[in-house]
Parts: sequence; C-alpha cells; structure tokens
Amino acid sequence: MKKTASVILAKCAKDKIYGIRIEKRENDWIRTWAFPLKEDMAEKEGFDKTSFTGNFYTDEEYPGCPYCGAKKCFVCGNCGKVSCYDGTDRVVCNWCGSRGTASSDSSTMDVSGGGF
Ligand SMILES: [Zn+2]
Ligand SMILES: [Zn+2]
Repeated sequence: MKKTASVILAKCAKDKIYGIRIEKRENDWIRTWAFPLKEDMAEKEGFDKTSFTGNFYTDEEYPGCPYCGAKKCFVCGNCGKVSCYDGTDRVVCNWCGSRGTASSDSSTMDVSGGGF
C-alpha cells in the first residue's frame, strides 16, 4: 500500500515556523513528526501552498513542536493556519494574532498554508 504523506506548516508562539509531517491512514491524517523550518525553505518546498481537510490525530511517536514541545496544535478560524496549542481553552493565532476558543484537537479541520 502506498503511503501518502505530506507536510503542514505551523507556527510556534516563539514566532518560529516548523513543519509537521502528516501521514494518511484510512481517511485520517496522523501527525508523525515535526521539524524546524525556515520560511524560505518552506516557500521553496511549497509547504506554504498545501491545504488539507479531514480528521487530524497525533501519533504516539509524535515529538511535538521543536521549539516549545507542544504536542497539540490548533487551526485558526480566521486565517486557517496552524499554531502551537498549549492546552488552555483560549488560543491566540501565532500567524494573524486573532483570538479564539480552542475546539477539539481531533476534530475536522481545514488547513491551509502560505502568507507569511
Ligand atoms: Zn511551539
Ligand atoms: Zn490566524
């Protein structure tokens, strides 16, 4: 069976970006790995142009954010991008600064990249 894997872009509260490797299993996306990224790298690889819809889960092996160690992330309802999520119920998007209330980490999300 062919593995489908991709990378989504996320931003840490420390204002650094990183890539989250996701792997498709059945109809869900599983976060399996995270690694530090530079913005020019992300642009070159096209990570800023990717978008996904579906359920997102975290693999047991997932190491978390390379900067702050957060294993969870949330998708901003305003810009659709992914930020680190520290587990509190109030979230601030690290991309556009909009505030929101975190919904479940494992619910369906629309993720899009780009627009540094
Ligand atoms: Zn982080
Ligand atoms: Zn946002």
